[in-house]
Amino acid sequence: MQSRLLCLAALLLVAPATQAEELPIFDAHIHYSHDAWEMLPAAEAVAVLRRAGVKRALVSSSSDEGTQRLLAAAPDLIVPELRPYRSRGEIGSWVRDETVIPYLEERLARHRYVAIGEFHAYGADVELPVMRRVIELALQHGLFLHAHSDADAISRIFAQAPASRVLWAHSGFAPPAKVREMLERHSGLWADLAFRTDHAPGGRLDPDWRALFLDFPDRFMVGTDTFTPERWYYVEEHARSARAWLAELPREVAEKIAWRNGERLFTAANDACPDIAGAKRLATDGQVLKFRTLPASPGVGQPFAVELALCGADGRPAATPPRVDAWMPDHRHGMNLKPQLRTLAPGRFMAEGFLFHMPGLWEFRFEIGAPPDRVTLTSPRMLD
Ligand SMILES: [Zn+2]
Repeated sequence: MQSRLLCLAALLLVAPATQAEELPIFDAHIHYSHDAWEMLPAAEAVAVLRRAGVKRALVSSSSDEGTQRLLAAAPDLIVPELRPYRSRGEIGSWVRDETVIPYLEERLARHRYVAIGEFHAYGADVELPVMRRVIELALQHGLFLHAHSDADAISRIFAQAPASRVLWAHSGFAPPAKVREMLERHSGLWADLAFRTDHAPGGRLDPDWRALFLDFPDRFMVGTDTFTPERWYYVEEHARSARAWLAELPREVAEKIAWRNGERLFTAANDACPDIAGAKRLATDGQVLKFRTLPASPGVGQPFAVELALCGADGRPAATPPRVDAWMPDHRHGMNLKPQLRTLAPGRFMAEGFLFHMPGLWEFRFEIGAPPDRVTLTSPRMLD
């Protein structure tokens, strides 16, 4: 009798996890650093991710070579971010090492990334010249900052550059009340849950974290954090345990945290969308917008055009162009000119008549669709 009861209890425990088994995972915190690629060749690392049901992995490595190797092995799976470390051991020294900047600039010119990070910076470190430049580079290239930082450093980033978008690694290891306060205060802040267990101690969802997930379903992502090569053996287990506690949430919320948030923020939902060389990509809920300026880096007082491609959630080129404009969020005004838009081909458009008439932070604004379903995408651009 007792053993039958035990069996029943075991079944009850297993049921929610099995039910959610097919839940794909966007793993927002993967590293493939030099010692990992020596131990686990790229093809095997990709196999680990696929076995775990990881749909996509946000990868950064010391050095970036590891990320590039994984990306070459599985371009459909790997979402690349640029880590400022060239080898293990730069975690504590990099914020004072000015050679980091030319390294980042050279990589940014050569490869495509969605973020700069994961980097470690605490408190007033983000006011140092190297971090200031990193924050600027992220804005210029339309990239996220993936920050392993305390709440103080995160607030200092937003004070310095309010248009920044930050993925807060490990949610700062902060308690849920602090994470809530930060998410309320900073609309450009998202958080990963890598390498922390307090949101699901013993595999069950903590009530305070649960409330936070329900109140901010669009702001969280899961992640393994393979900070040492051995952690690669934990990727499958992480995906399994994440599915178990996610199953306690409403399905829609679970899907967002498991993969939809990462997908929406970081990936080309649709690569069938017409390609534009050197274009930046913005995506929301399946819609993809790619754009570039002509010339590539217009200065103050220099007329330029914006070439763009837009595809709907169904993957088809959009028939209607978005509204395009440039705006100064800090000054609450736009340009003195009104750009004119023409259609080049299905889903491809050219907007002419742009001019930044003063230095400062400008934002490109793209409005897709008509109210009440209008979606606005922005891409910040810092002008000296
Ligand atoms: Zn990490």
